[in-house]
Amino acid sequence: MASIHAAAADDSDDTDIDAVIEQLANIPVDPPSKRQLCDKCSRPISVCWCSFLPIAPLNIKSKLIILQHPSEEKRCLRTAKILELSLAAGRCKVVKGKKFTFNKNAELRDIVANPEKTLLLFPSADSLDLTNLDLTVPYNVVIIDGTWSQARAMYNSSPDIQTFTKVEINVGKPSNYVIRTQPTEECLSTVETAAITLSHLENNPNIYEILTKPLQALCSFQLKHGAVHHFSKEYLILNGLYNKPITRKIKKKLRKHEDIKSYIR
Ligand SMILES: [Zn+2]
Repeated sequence: MASIHAAAADDSDDTDIDAVIEQLANIPVDPPSKRQLCDKCSRPISVCWCSFLPIAPLNIKSKLIILQHPSEEKRCLRTAKILELSLAAGRCKVVKGKKFTFNKNAELRDIVANPEKTLLLFPSADSLDLTNLDLTVPYNVVIIDGTWSQARAMYNSSPDIQTFTKVEINVGKPSNYVIRTQPTEECLSTVETAAITLSHLENNPNIYEILTKPLQALCSFQLKHGAVHHFSKEYLILNGLYNKPITRKIKKKLRKHEDIKSYIR
């Protein structure tokens, strides 16, 4: 879901990078006519991330339920699919829709038997911090997959899911890496949100690494294939990514850790 990391991303200086990677994710790698799709992830073979999935799906004690906005499925990255393919059978369910009720959605009805053990990842005034939960019991984890405005609309039109215990991730605590690899508010946070939540609930940091590996592979692939030219020259120089000669003046400024803006053409 978009909202979990949004505030922290805004606070960082990575906003531009996020926007760039979102654009990148939309760059077709092959001409459309030549695109052959992977049977498993439905992505073009050239950008399939299936080889980065865990060899054996992860068996976790939590159960993940992803409430997916219908337009999310059409998005470029579809990271919920990573979760579906990475977690053991029955541990991850994707339910598509805009309104959810216990009557209509059997997956939700099943977990209602233990409402106190069902968490809804949704930041609000009365959300609990993920890290304050009792970890001795298994949880059902409900994540809304959509942009922030879609997620809010889905929440507002689904009174039944409002009865779940709302939980939020305090992004100040996990590493910066989480934010840095989050390409956009809209596209990528579902898998990261799930990865952070599950690794905490299962008390296993490896889960985060395993679940986000296909995402990292995808980001680095996109960066290798044209991402770099979207960054400003200043950004590239400052990050050691500029592969053309730079002037002596700029080198001198860099050595002194001084501003190079006015020397860049
Ligand atoms: Zn694939």
